[in-house]
Amino acid sequence: MTGQQTARKFLVDAMLGKLATWLRLAGCDTVYNPGIHDDELLKMAVEETRILLSSDVELVRRAENQGVSSMLVRGSVDFEVAEVFRVFQVAPQIDPSKARCSKCNGQLTELRNKEREKIKDLVFEQTYDHYDIFWHCQECDNVYFQGGYWDNIQKYMERIQKIMEIREQPR
Ligand SMILES: [Zn+2]
Repeated sequence: MTGQQTARKFLVDAMLGKLATWLRLAGCDTVYNPGIHDDELLKMAVEETRILLSSDVELVRRAENQGVSSMLVRGSVDFEVAEVFRVFQVAPQIDPSKARCSKCNGQLTELRNKEREKIKDLVFEQTYDHYDIFWHCQECDNVYFQGGYWDNIQKYMERIQKIMEIREQPR
């Protein structure tokens, strides 16, 4: 698992919001903006060399005609998510120091000890007292910590890993 995998940049269409979340958590720079028109999506994919993931056959065809790397993804169900991770060699692992903000794609800053004071007003007091490390998105002020939802993310990634392994076995 090299750092190169996280260098892949994605552009995800309006139908695939959950997929965008998983890619961001896995550390991939992923643009997801449901308000963007198809023409603008293609333009951005070209200009920023992003891989286009779309559930729209026609859009994927247009992307391929313009030399944009793309993949037809039918939805954000586990199987489709695993297939994207497999094809583009994204490791289904969560490292908060590399993850992107799941809400806005911003980069996260790790805050320990005294630095935690920065986010004191953004979380519940009990949460603040309980965790030694937080990750703060400077773009949207979202705060992450390794609470119960974190376990759920880990479990989901493990499931994706399993599906990928099944797919990789020769038939
Ligand atoms: Zn954010």
